Amino acid sequence: MIPKTMKACLLTAYNKLEIAEVPTPEPGPDEVLCRIRAVAICGTDPEIIKGNHAKKNWPPVFPFILGHEWAGEVISAGERVTEYKAGDRVAGEAHRGCGTCANCMTGHYTLCLNYGKSETGHRHYGFMVSGANCEYNVYSPKALHKIPDNLSFAHASLLDTAGVALHGIDMIGVSSGGTAAIWGPGPIGLCALQMIKGMGAARVIVVGRRHRLQVAGELGADFLVDYEKEDPVKRVLEITGGRGVDEIQECSGGANVLGQCVAALRKGGKINLIGFYDDPKVIFPPLTNLVMNEITVTGSRANPNVSDRALNMFAAGIVKGDKLISHVFPLEQYEKALDIFSNRKDGAIKVVIEP
Ligand SMILES: [Zn+2]
Ligand SMILES: [Zn+2]
Repeated sequence: MIPKTMKACLLTAYNKLEIAEVPTPEPGPDEVLCRIRAVAICGTDPEIIKGNHAKKNWPPVFPFILGHEWAGEVISAGERVTEYKAGDRVAGEAHRGCGTCANCMTGHYTLCLNYGKSETGHRHYGFMVSGANCEYNVYSPKALHKIPDNLSFAHASLLDTAGVALHGIDMIGVSSGGTAAIWGPGPIGLCALQMIKGMGAARVIVVGRRHRLQVAGELGADFLVDYEKEDPVKRVLEITGGRGVDEIQECSGGANVLGQCVAALRKGGKINLIGFYDDPKVIFPPLTNLVMNEITVTGSRANPNVSDRALNMFAAGIVKGDKLISHVFPLEQYEKALDIFSNRKDGAIKVVIEP
């Protein structure tokens, strides 16, 4: 029996959260009703809560249910759904493109040209439409992936994080036998580290600080560069014999890192940006350097076309997603969980809610 109401964590205004009993959603003919078993807090969640993404229209209404990094079970499927049935263990993607625009047609559905127009079928779960900080939600089958048997729901809820890292890597590749660097050993950077090692880079340098830098060492980084103690560019050049690294995944979003990254790349090197650079103090690198050294700079948005591979990397132990889970809380303690996550208390890396 599916209960008529469910527990949900509502954002009722900026900086105002409330655990409430709300109607359980019902799936349309093309949708699947899922029981949310685990939902990880994403770095964007506290920013949305504070109102820092109001310009992006996240969320479009109050009250709103956030949460987009989730795993759970299929409870029931609409009459036109053929791929999923009750009992399937699944993890979600936040983006579901319209499916018919030029970008969706070429697989770039996180860049859907009908973004936010739900009448076209577009969904951005937990951003533009209801998310997973609750007991049940309805999803398009296109946003679901079956999870391997050896993964817990909590582990699988890190799919979004790992997928974002993998899409960033897809943008610029990995030089097998080469040297890569990661700026920012947060959850995405720590996934990227393990993937880049798994994909054959001979050496991975991680630039960061404190606890998270130490975790990067535990997860296989070959060189740890603490930017509070040494100049990261000087150190990277030292490690690479003055040549610079082949690729950089910039996962920090730091205001002064873009110039550092360009200076730490080899000629012809590539950098992919995963952070948000909204800080008015962001310093952009001299563009002539990009031209003279044929530096490729890409940005990568979210996690299109990577989820099954990312889940396989979890299942195979190439990416130890579970090592990133520092805390688990029930839904009722969402605010406490948010505080621990946002303020990086008690060694917090990924904080997972089990509704
Ligand atoms: Zn996320
Ligand atoms: Zn589209």
